[in-house]
Amino acid sequence: MARQKLGQHFLASGKILERIATAACGDHTEFVLEIGPGRGALTERLLSRSDRLAAIELDGELAVFLREKWAAEPKLQVVDGNALDARWSDWGEGVLAGNLPYYVASAIITSYILKPGKLRHGVFLIQKEVAERITAAPGGREYGYLSVLCQFFAEVKMLFSVPPGAFQPPPKVDSAVIRVTPRAELPEIDQERFIRFVSACFQHKRKTLRNNLSGWASRERIDAIPGMERRAEQLTGGDFLELFRNFSPDTAAAITEST
Ligand code: SAM
Repeated sequence: MARQKLGQHFLASGKILERIATAACGDHTEFVLEIGPGRGALTERLLSRSDRLAAIELDGELAVFLREKWAAEPKLQVVDGNALDARWSDWGEGVLAGNLPYYVASAIITSYILKPGKLRHGVFLIQKEVAERITAAPGGREYGYLSVLCQFFAEVKMLFSVPPGAFQPPPKVDSAVIRVTPRAELPEIDQERFIRFVSACFQHKRKTLRNNLSGWASRERIDAIPGMERRAEQLTGGDFLELFRNFSPDTAAAITEST
């Protein structure tokens, strides 16, 4: 029995499993970390394209099942655990992949892009609506905090859609596969503050930056910053960075002194 509470929708389409494994590993890769192996449908395809595979599974019964199924496979390590607690930097060079449990997909992806370790990219099957939000361009309906966060810390690419019929049992929503490649170089900023800043910019989506950021600086300071009548949904990642620098404690002090 699939435990729907744990997001257990098992992929049953061989063609789609192949496409995900190829997107993750290419012809071959040294190491794959898989999230949520379930009954091992994707695991099997990833194993045939890698030298070593570790798979983190929260459902203890499935972990036992997988260990028995691949008892004679030295390349596979099944880890009992919660992917939300994973420290990606504990793993060596390789790639991350998974048909993610939808209830924690965004949390897993954001924790990965912030501290990816040596995992070069992640290929994830997730709810299509979330995939659209992650890859959305500025100005669109889907563009928001999650888009900015993901695109600031990673390159993101929508790969292909997956219909409910490809799963057993079928989910109620459409799904999609995305590739997320954490950026090798990031600007030197206080990342936690930047994340809180972007979140504040989107707090009320219909309000201007001036309104959403009123708690971040005095009125005089805000008056001295250009472009505060815009809405967050119009800004690119670069715009957010420029704006954030205006709100850094040093710059803000300089602006106030010069006005
Ligand atoms: N990879 C399999 C497939 O494609 O058929 C199963 C995918 S199913 C959508 C998600 C899997 O993630 C399930 O096996 C579920 O038990 C597991 N899971 C759910 N929450 C998890 C978590 N927080 N950490 C790790 N695995 C989790």
